[in-house]
Amino acid sequence: MVETRLQTKLDNGITRCDLCLWRCKLSHGQRGFCQAHVNRNGTLYNLSYGIVSSMEVGPIEDKPVKHYRPGSKVLSVGSYGCNFRCGGCHNLEISWGTEALDELARGESKAAYVTPDELVEAALRQGVEGIAFTYSEPAVWLEYLLDVSEAAYRAGLYTVYVTNSFVTDEALELMAPQVDVVCSDIKSMRDEFYHQVCPVGSVSEVLDSIEKAQRLGIHVETRTNIIPGYNDGPEELRQIAEWIRDHLGAESPWHITRFFPAYKLSDVEATPAETLWQAHDIACEVGLTNVYVYDDKGCDCAAENLPVEAFLNADDAQVHAVKKCSASCCGDDGVLLKRYEEELPR
Ligand code: SF4
Repeated sequence: MVETRLQTKLDNGITRCDLCLWRCKLSHGQRGFCQAHVNRNGTLYNLSYGIVSSMEVGPIEDKPVKHYRPGSKVLSVGSYGCNFRCGGCHNLEISWGTEALDELARGESKAAYVTPDELVEAALRQGVEGIAFTYSEPAVWLEYLLDVSEAAYRAGLYTVYVTNSFVTDEALELMAPQVDVVCSDIKSMRDEFYHQVCPVGSVSEVLDSIEKAQRLGIHVETRTNIIPGYNDGPEELRQIAEWIRDHLGAESPWHITRFFPAYKLSDVEATPAETLWQAHDIACEVGLTNVYVYDDKGCDCAAENLPVEAFLNADDAQVHAVKKCSASCCGDDGVLLKRYEEELPR
């Protein structure tokens, strides 16, 4: 485990995590909403540093990013632990990874562990030009993201951060010198949507973070996954397009992707092509000049990726060696004492 990069000690052994906008206040033994940060004796640690749940090589356009190094390839990588619980999540196993994080906390995990240098070496071997942090919210994994980005920069690779933008200004400020591209969701313009589908966050917090990323000099592109009956109203789509025009600029790329039934939204139909093109036409009407419609997969889904070890120059036993904490202070329970999510007062 490594110490959480942004934490504030409060009274009575409670420490606040400042990585994302949950700003979880945790007592000894408690884990944050994402399950990936734990308070041990007043100090927060990231359980998932270097733990890689999925990897894939593909074009940067698949992130989707179209206006940064077009035609180049990226190594996409993700870990367990997410600060959203989206009803239509396609990446449950590799993003929430609650069981995987429980195993890490108990020191029983055989999940793949990859050092920053090994990851960069894997990227260079694959002949890619960048590394993308994706599949779950990378802010939850900030400690690793920063170390990898530094190593990537030294190796001449760019970095992409695919995000829900429910992140703090402090996290963005730490990332800004090292992250080249942000691809952020704008899921809706209504708080009700975020509460119902994610189910956290508020629109203004998300939008402020996106704008902040651009102000910090990061190349920003946005994406909206249109879900029938949830965020497909023409007025809402117009509001999203207008917000992009007014806050990021008329040339800022907007990616419109198709929803496919999954998880709690399994009974919702896939987005009809007409809806996607209606959004496109609305965006063009309000003045956006770079609008892209994906009526195929169009999502950052990792269900069919090769196993992580396929990208590494190491034998399986080494990659999947048990990650056991050497400290004995937590007894047989490891650092798994209680979870935060169930009692979150929000
Ligand atoms: S959800 Fe995780 S990353 Fe976000 S504040 Fe809570 S512990 Fe930190």
